[in-house]
Amino acid sequence: MNSLTVPLPVFRRYLRDLQQHPPGSLRYPVGISHRSGQFELIAASPGSQVGRLLLLSWYHSLVLPPFFPPDCAGVLLLGEGQQHGHALGAVRLPSQDLEPLHQLRLVGPGMHAIGLQQELLPEPLARTMVEGSSEESVARWSRTIGALGQEAWQRLVGLRYALIGVGRAGSSLALALARMGVTQLTLIDPDRVESHNLGETPALTGADIGQLKVEAVAVSLASGAAVPPEVVTVPESITHLHALRAAQACDLLISCVDHDGARLAAAVIAALFCKPLLDIATGVHGQGRGRRLGADVRLVLPGQCLLCFGGLRDEARAWQMLASTEAERAFYARQDWRRERAGSLASLNQCAVGVGVRLLEDLIAERVQESTWAHLAFDASGRLTVSYPTGSPRLDRSPCSLCELAGWGEDGLPRVVDLLDARST
Ligand SMILES: [Zn+2]
Repeated sequence: MNSLTVPLPVFRRYLRDLQQHPPGSLRYPVGISHRSGQFELIAASPGSQVGRLLLLSWYHSLVLPPFFPPDCAGVLLLGEGQQHGHALGAVRLPSQDLEPLHQLRLVGPGMHAIGLQQELLPEPLARTMVEGSSEESVARWSRTIGALGQEAWQRLVGLRYALIGVGRAGSSLALALARMGVTQLTLIDPDRVESHNLGETPALTGADIGQLKVEAVAVSLASGAAVPPEVVTVPESITHLHALRAAQACDLLISCVDHDGARLAAAVIAALFCKPLLDIATGVHGQGRGRRLGADVRLVLPGQCLLCFGGLRDEARAWQMLASTEAERAFYARQDWRRERAGSLASLNQCAVGVGVRLLEDLIAERVQESTWAHLAFDASGRLTVSYPTGSPRLDRSPCSLCELAGWGEDGLPRVVDLLDARST
């Protein structure tokens, strides 16, 4: 299935520009993502220099333009008048042939996907409908559907989610999504199960020690959900190419990782490929009455990135970790969870996971309209406060170097290497 992915604010700008311009096509920068013979065009920020263009025009008859400029990667034609609400598109392949675009995906509140009219195919390829339309599944999830609405629930369970890090928080979140009826999950984590993982992690047993975490969690999902989701397991770090490709194929990224190198890698993929990113971090620090327990749950939508919406605790160190395999390997060799923090609590993770899932539900139900950061803190009396920071302004006021690559897709990867070189020397 070929698709065009556009952040909702950018699509609104497309419509405004089209209404203000005389007949003819407008040009906007797009990045590209391709995998297994499928092509995805990704809207970059208007004005960015990615080097590929999308032609945008009204159409009055279902006819594609007779020719394409050399830098044109695709076209989107929107209906007006009697054809209002209809759209048609095409992507140009490396062979120069045209293939139809099947779907327009609007990233942001609602996460709507719109089937495009097909001239070259017998009928539109709709996104695979989830089991939600059958009477049995409507009964099974009737309480959830009652709370979210049928359409929002179907959009929620029809997306593919990448879970980056499937430790305590990540595995708990994966299970929560599977129990809601989510049909497609990709689990990414290079670690194996160790004895200290067993304590409060859901669904792991002593028999799992030594097993890959992604495989152990996949097995628990198969037995813990009424309708097991289709699970792709990637036992590699998110910094590796295979994991990047797997995340690229997902609609939404969720990072529940334990270090900022992986957090930064997830932020880079989210920015390049225009994906919402839910980042969850929990912490237990100190001793006794002075012990601090808290969590940061950030839902970052295209238009911002994790670096300019709260940032990382030690961004310089995170860039160094991404710079080379040796740096990452050295980090893992030195990593000792007891030195990093006082420990972790399932109760705290569940608070953070609950808030994270709620943000996802409200994003897809169109209640969350912008990037949202929930900061949870338990004080010395055990009382919980939740605050909503607005993101830390960049001190130097310069444009965010990662946001400048938003929507560049695979064309942005060499630029990320340049950033790595610049930041790690
Ligand atoms: Zn940014």
